[in-house]
Amino acid sequence: MSAFTTTAWLGLDDDSLTACVACGLCLSHCPTFRLTGDERMSPRGRIALMRAVQTGGVACDDEWYNSMETCIQCRGCEAACPAGVPFGELISGTRAAISEARPLPLHLRLGLWGLTRPRLLLLGSRFLAMLQRIRVLPRVPFLPRQLPLSGSRLPRRSEGDVVLFTGCVMDVWQPEVHDACETVIAATGSTVVRSGPGTGCCGALHEHAGLHDSAREMAEHVIASLPGEQEILVDSAGCGAALKAYGHLLGTAEAVAFSDRVLDIHEWLAEHDDSLPQVPVADRPGVIVQDPCHLRHVQGAHGAVRQVLGHCSEVVELNDDGLCCGAGGSYSLLQPEMAGAARDRKVALIREVSALSGANIVVSANPGCSMHLATAGVEVRHPVQVVAEMLTSADGVNGGATDGR
Ligand code: SF4
Ligand code: SF4
Repeated sequence: MSAFTTTAWLGLDDDSLTACVACGLCLSHCPTFRLTGDERMSPRGRIALMRAVQTGGVACDDEWYNSMETCIQCRGCEAACPAGVPFGELISGTRAAISEARPLPLHLRLGLWGLTRPRLLLLGSRFLAMLQRIRVLPRVPFLPRQLPLSGSRLPRRSEGDVVLFTGCVMDVWQPEVHDACETVIAATGSTVVRSGPGTGCCGALHEHAGLHDSAREMAEHVIASLPGEQEILVDSAGCGAALKAYGHLLGTAEAVAFSDRVLDIHEWLAEHDDSLPQVPVADRPGVIVQDPCHLRHVQGAHGAVRQVLGHCSEVVELNDDGLCCGAGGSYSLLQPEMAGAARDRKVALIREVSALSGANIVVSANPGCSMHLATAGVEVRHPVQVVAEMLTSADGVNGGATDGR
């Protein structure tokens, strides 16, 4: 284990580090503190430990690394902090410094490398699906049931009113979500073009793992492949948060202008909701909403999800202030015990709320959360899939139907 005593080794902003007044109001919003009760697993404790290394000349020991590496980077603490401490920036800078000192595990490096190669991702996914089909591999709940035949579709040549960002894993494993988004966007009277395989991965997982140089390269590629003025809609909360942060990541006027074009799909639909299906109250299914951290704490777009769903369903809340489910990018691979414990807490709450409300549809706007919850037996759909189904159902008549309120 390496030990570092160099002052300012972490390269963090001193003002951000000293902004924490140790009030503790973030503690109840931190999933790792809630699970352990350990101050070193809290935002306040982590900031104190960062400060000790950056300005106190303290060496990093195993406990220090464990404190930093068990942070899910959910940023629930940042949203709750009255002093405006930019915890996301602090932990992101810390993880970048750690990635230079301690190489990431080989399986994670291979996985991240694969995300930047869409054809390989498609072929690998088809191979896994085939092994499952012939029962050589047990069924993995989040892998596609069907063999992914084409993965990301070629971008259409015609211009659309908006661009749908299709990404990497989601395009291969959850293409039905992109299909649903196209259906609902079309119902508003707008045309949509997919970003397609040439745009590639957004780099969110690379940034999350501290590989900032890789994330910057991928951001530059995404920006170059999507010129123009169209709004860019994203149906994955993690990808959307990454695209919106390109301006900050690259620090160029071009990147800032690009980020200004990016909207979560629900934000856009909420602005065009006149055309969404209005379903009579008696016919509305109960839908339990699980807020992805990168939608709620980072983008602040969770209200738009409720507005969009409110046209065709009864929204059922978990009332846990968006406490993280433990998915966290590659967190569930690197910290399976903590990720599993956070997920178990979320799943227990989902089952409790389902029993009380009678709602049996669970939605989440992030593929990582959906896949993480699926491994515990919870079937999770994307909110826009629910809207698309109501659009095409006999009762969910679009345009002109009354909502029965
Ligand atoms: S991070 Fe913010 S909320 Fe948490 S202890 Fe520091 S000042 Fe208080
Ligand atoms: S980012 Fe999440 S896990 Fe990390 S300290 Fe903040 S609340 Fe806790």
